Amino acid sequence: MRKVHIVGNWKMNQSVADINAFTETILTMNNLSCEAWIAPQAIHLSMLQSKSDTIKVGAQNCSNHNSGAFTGELSPESLKDLGAHFVIIGHSERRAIFKEDDLLLNQKVLKALENKLKVILCVGETLQERESGDFKSILKSQLLNGLKDISATDKENIIIAYEPVWAIGTGKVASPEQAQEVHAFLRGELKAVEALEAQATPILYGGSVKPANIQGLLENEDIDGALVGGASLKGESFKELCELSK
Ligand code: PEP
Repeated sequence: MRKVHIVGNWKMNQSVADINAFTETILTMNNLSCEAWIAPQAIHLSMLQSKSDTIKVGAQNCSNHNSGAFTGELSPESLKDLGAHFVIIGHSERRAIFKEDDLLLNQKVLKALENKLKVILCVGETLQERESGDFKSILKSQLLNGLKDISATDKENIIIAYEPVWAIGTGKVASPEQAQEVHAFLRGELKAVEALEAQATPILYGGSVKPANIQGLLENEDIDGALVGGASLKGESFKELCELSK
């Protein structure tokens, strides 16, 4: 019922030559049973989009406004206009480095949905929060505050990504059991969001996912795909991730 999504987050990486090499490889991906999405740097969106029909492109962030005097910001309306399919909102790097809080993130979610972009809302705890014990209440407030005031017409446009901060770019992957436990918890909390159908909402895992560990994660009932940083940069490994994801 929930389609598997493999979503590459390229962050502030990839030259034009890197993207050309990447697309050469993924052109040979056929008959995928998963959704294959990539969020390149926004300046590369059109280039990547023009090179492959198989992958859908999106952004790593967007503004909470459509237009106006917001120098340097990325308009969700313009992203849609350009053909972006989705936007990642609330990545832990946005929360930690750019100090984006739940209130702002919720405004971004609503603005992206208003523009008919699919939203990948990221939630995740730091190592310190996990070790403090009650990390699930942190995840719950990130989740419910981020989704505040969404409407039932948006339900098919919401995807959640659980990304434990201690597993991002560290090589330390959460065990499939640890990830499944949190995914089941998040799905339970989604039941409180009237606008959504918890059972139909994809929940992706992110944090040091690679071809060697994707299958063990996807075997779990509530893990519906992955948000992938490092291992999405090379065409070979992104292709392998997609091909292993059924
Ligand atoms: C990410 O940045 O969303 C991520 C999961 O990175 P990595 O796969 O490199 O841990």
